Amino acid sequence: MSMPEVDYIWKNGELVPWAEATTHVLSHVMHYGSGAFEGIRAYKLTEGGTAVFRLHEHMERLLLSAKMLYMDVGYTVDELCEAVCQLISANGLDACYVRPLVYRGYGSMGLDPLPAPVDLIIACWPWAPLLGEAGAETGVDACVSSWRQRSVNSMPPAIKASGNYVNSSLARIEANKNGYAEAILLNEQGHISEGTGDNLFIVKGERILTPPSADGVLRGITRDTIIELARVFGYELRKVSLVRSDLYSADEVFLTGTAVEVVPIHAVDGIEVGGGKPGPVTRRLQTAFHAIVQGEDPAFEQWLYRVYPPPS
Ligand code: PMP
Repeated sequence: MSMPEVDYIWKNGELVPWAEATTHVLSHVMHYGSGAFEGIRAYKLTEGGTAVFRLHEHMERLLLSAKMLYMDVGYTVDELCEAVCQLISANGLDACYVRPLVYRGYGSMGLDPLPAPVDLIIACWPWAPLLGEAGAETGVDACVSSWRQRSVNSMPPAIKASGNYVNSSLARIEANKNGYAEAILLNEQGHISEGTGDNLFIVKGERILTPPSADGVLRGITRDTIIELARVFGYELRKVSLVRSDLYSADEVFLTGTAVEVVPIHAVDGIEVGGGKPGPVTRRLQTAFHAIVQGEDPAFEQWLYRVYPPPS
């Protein structure tokens, strides 16, 4: 997979040409995973223009991740949101994925990260839904991973620390090598946590269930969006511990995340979920999600951060 390149990357307060946004090989983050990042999407609005979806919440989570890693980002949430707009406009993109990364840079080695400087970059590029347009339409195959989810007492799943993603990568490699699109990780207690880069929901009858944060999940912003939509639609939504067999007995299972958006799972470990096709609850939530991010539902206007000046 090749990386789509655009003109600029925002680095420590300035727009720099894409090819010049490099870092030294002895940067602390490259050796010890001492960074934190976000994944954000900007959408082209149906009426014209571009809006970043729930940008404030993403930047708040970035600052939380940084705080837990003792990194002072040096910018407020509002300043970071402005930087994203400036970057998207400069790159002339009307829809893109946005990746802020705050990390320990070059200057000192060793396990104590605190002497190393803190650097911040924001990049953006065009990126289609990560499990494919077809996956979103027909559903994807998932497996339960043989790897366990990182424990809440070792590498907190509540933050997007760069080092956390070694665990996700191991699970993703295993799944892909065995022919599955995504892996579902159980925690050490055997409770379902989440996918490698997404949250998980189960539908049973009129009830929608998702693991609680205590079971080791990231509080996904798409997860929160779906929880709010479920409330608006009048479904009973519960955050409860779930076990492996709940996947096989579910009527519907779906994943949510900024990169994947809302994706039905049609089989887990080769066992069909429901009828093996995306179910009506998943479809309804997925359709509503797409309408919101494209600015078609005025009730959720507050989640859209409009990019000014609009990219040409
Ligand atoms: N879990 C993990 C491990 C993730 O990396 C992501 C992607 N940020 C999610 C869940 C979904 O979070 P969000 O909806 O905020 O993108």
